[in-house]
Amino acid sequence: MITVKDLHKSFGDLEVLRGIDYEVAESEVVCVIGPSGSGKSTLLRCLNQLEEVTAGTIIVDGNDLTDPKLDINAVRTEIGMVFQQFNLFPHKSVLDNVALAPRRVRRISRAQAEERARALLAKVGLADKADAYPEQLSGGQKQRVAIARALAMEPKIMLFDEPTSALDPELVGEVLEVMKDLAIEGMTMVVVTHEMGFAREVGDRVVFMDGGVIVEEGTPDEIFGNPQSPRTKDFLDKVL
Ligand code: ADP
Ligand code: MG
Repeated sequence: MITVKDLHKSFGDLEVLRGIDYEVAESEVVCVIGPSGSGKSTLLRCLNQLEEVTAGTIIVDGNDLTDPKLDINAVRTEIGMVFQQFNLFPHKSVLDNVALAPRRVRRISRAQAEERARALLAKVGLADKADAYPEQLSGGQKQRVAIARALAMEPKIMLFDEPTSALDPELVGEVLEVMKDLAIEGMTMVVVTHEMGFAREVGDRVVFMDGGVIVEEGTPDEIFGNPQSPRTKDFLDKVL
């Protein structure tokens, strides 16, 4: 589903990604862990072209993102993204937040978009919040709306950038539960997270990044149970 080859990304003189190679298969859940500033968000943002890459190749579902002839908007609709900050439209109802993009981008009717939106809200456990406004929701509920909104575009891939980092601890579980359900349904997912329990339980593969490179990757058992690199060990010692 995703192939990244020798990806480099610089901001001016600062080289943030220094040769990243990795692949994500269909239905695979890859969790990306690593210290702050290691380039995790930049990597995700390159995957849906929120950042232009400096060098290297990214192929998403057969589309070479670095091909200038590519219709990037078409590829972008295949990729859903959920951020630490929920970025909901504050003046729109929950239902509108979920139904809006499909109506505008996919040009489906209002009735159909709203019917789908209601189904997605039910899926994330918020069927009763369709008419609420974001400010009336808890952080966990907002993030579940943001997930429903991303799913409304029927993406083939979901990218999550620390989706639970802004939440009060007691609200983290409800969001991780929704993400786990998605994983079980076979969604292809790349999840940047500090939730090591989630990475261990739900991740098919764990990627450890530090200093703009992938230091080590493997199954959760390999990374958590028997890390090879001293940098991985050191990081895990600090967070576990
Ligand atoms: P992480 O998500 O692992 O914490 P980031 O990808 O956000 O790391 O950032 C990696 C490095 O790139 C940091 O040093 C950060 O300051 C820098 N960086 C990120 N975005 C920009 C930008 N738009 N302009 C300049 N530097 C940036
Ligand atoms: Mg980040």
